[in-house]
Amino acid sequence: MLVKVEQIPETGSVRVDEALPPSFVDDFLPMLQDLHASGPGSVTLQLSKQGENILVHGTAGCTIAGECAACLKPMTLTLAPKIGLILFKRTVTAMKDSEAEAVAAEEEGTLVDDPTPDEGAGEYDGKVVDWGSIVREQLLLALPMAPRCKDDCAGLCATCGVDKNLEACDCNDQRIDPRWEKLKLVKL
Ligand SMILES: [Zn+2]
Ligand SMILES: [Zn+2]
Repeated sequence: MLVKVEQIPETGSVRVDEALPPSFVDDFLPMLQDLHASGPGSVTLQLSKQGENILVHGTAGCTIAGECAACLKPMTLTLAPKIGLILFKRTVTAMKDSEAEAVAAEEEGTLVDDPTPDEGAGEYDGKVVDWGSIVREQLLLALPMAPRCKDDCAGLCATCGVDKNLEACDCNDQRIDPRWEKLKLVKL
């Protein structure tokens, strides 16, 4: 999932138009909630040059199946982030061991994952753009912390366990702070 910078014309762009295998999606999904790709995803990107920088524009999409974090019913969720990034050419100064390994790996045509800063900017090494890691990161950013079947899912009653989307109960209705709800899913 690499594009060589030399493949990008000075004017115009290189287009990436590919399917994302379900394993690609499964690999970045957090383990906490039982989520998995419900099929292949897709990505469409345009890579163009702006001086030494690379502009990456496009969209990625995938559909994820799993359990609603609130009511535990099966649900699907579509992620479709728009991607708009500028990648700055990384200037190699003092090279740490890990970077030396990255350079070595890159000569073999692979690239070590590099956490890139957010805010629509990133880095590349001057030779190749790893669009796979860009797409992975953007999809992960689009994934809610605790995906729900619908935005206003009422969830299960913490006391009696009824699905409050379907029926009311007489329990003292204290909604759990949604930020803590995920803890209920942790399997000890
Ligand atoms: Zn739900
Ligand atoms: Zn109840």
